[in-house]
Amino acid sequence: MSYKLFIPGPIAVSEKTLQAMAKPMIGHRSTDFVALYQSIQPDLQALFYTKDPVYLSTSSAWGIMEGALRNVCTKKVLNCMNGAFSDKWNDVALRIGRQATALKFDWGQPVDPEAVRRELATGAYDAITLIHNETSCGCMSDLPALMAVIREFPEVISIVDTVSSFSVLPIKKDELGIDIFITGSQKALAMPPGLAMVSVSKRALERAAKVTDRGYYFDLVEFQKNHENGMTPSTPAIALIYALKSKLEDIKAEGAEARYARHARLNKTVRDFVLGKGFTLFPKEGYGSLSLNCFANTLNLDLGALNKTLKSKHHLVIDGGYGKLKGKTFRISNMGDETDETIAALLKSLDAALAETPRLPAA
Ligand SMILES: *Cc1c(COP(=O)(O)O)cnc(C)c1O
Repeated sequence: MSYKLFIPGPIAVSEKTLQAMAKPMIGHRSTDFVALYQSIQPDLQALFYTKDPVYLSTSSAWGIMEGALRNVCTKKVLNCMNGAFSDKWNDVALRIGRQATALKFDWGQPVDPEAVRRELATGAYDAITLIHNETSCGCMSDLPALMAVIREFPEVISIVDTVSSFSVLPIKKDELGIDIFITGSQKALAMPPGLAMVSVSKRALERAAKVTDRGYYFDLVEFQKNHENGMTPSTPAIALIYALKSKLEDIKAEGAEARYARHARLNKTVRDFVLGKGFTLFPKEGYGSLSLNCFANTLNLDLGALNKTLKSKHHLVIDGGYGKLKGKTFRISNMGDETDETIAALLKSLDAALAETPRLPAA
């Protein structure tokens, strides 16, 4: 049985994108590959709002998220944490033997710029990790305000995960001064999983060049060297790069501004509908994500039963809560290729399914 994903990644992939992946293979050291790689750079740089190259990593985002720390953190990293993905980043830092401080906020609360300033002012840090859009709880922190603080500390390399916000709204890498800007394929780009994209500032590359234990697969200096020849360090997921080229064409055809406006509009359509059913938004007011909505299960509905109905009768799936929020929240994605029509159809199905979903007995 096939069904459509409205979970916050992976999300539905269009027939056009799938078709783009079905092209004949080319050698990754061939002039054809170099032409493919170089042809997508300008469009990628435009979406990253950067003059720096955008490297392609055959991995999910976590590969580069871990790799970035290996490349630039030699003293200590400040991990800003307000949900499952940002919490994990602290765990990853410790696992690879880096000194790390956990700057914790409750899930659903944005990262507070003043708290970041207080920590960085201790002078203990040479890197910071930040997740723009905490997908686990649908919370979007104020990236411009946070980057304004981080720019006050030139010794600190900023590593920013935009995995679930990239191409949903403009995130201006150069203007904001983001050093390492990381995103992935299976969220708003609506591609299959398996490709990460990362753009790195010159000063971050200079830092990396001095770090001796940065490894090979995620060595940013290696990415830069290969980039200069229109290639990647190892054999990349060429099919996914075809998909990326196709998606970048789609984005260009729609227009980035129209794409951002569409995401904001559909996000609000879903939010208004579900709030109208009596649920509340989980993240702090004013910090709700534009890519998805995370609702508190204030009506105490049986979310397992809801998703079963949605899947079997309506052939779609939403998310019943991430990690410790399972059963307590539900998340609906509006990322990627959704339109007013597809979101209207989703809400019609949701309306019908909600009507037959039982409430759980009070605990
Ligand atoms: C999905 C997601 C990730 C994880 O990406 P992988 O592709 O599983 O490596 C990281 N950060 C955020 C914010 C995400 O939404």
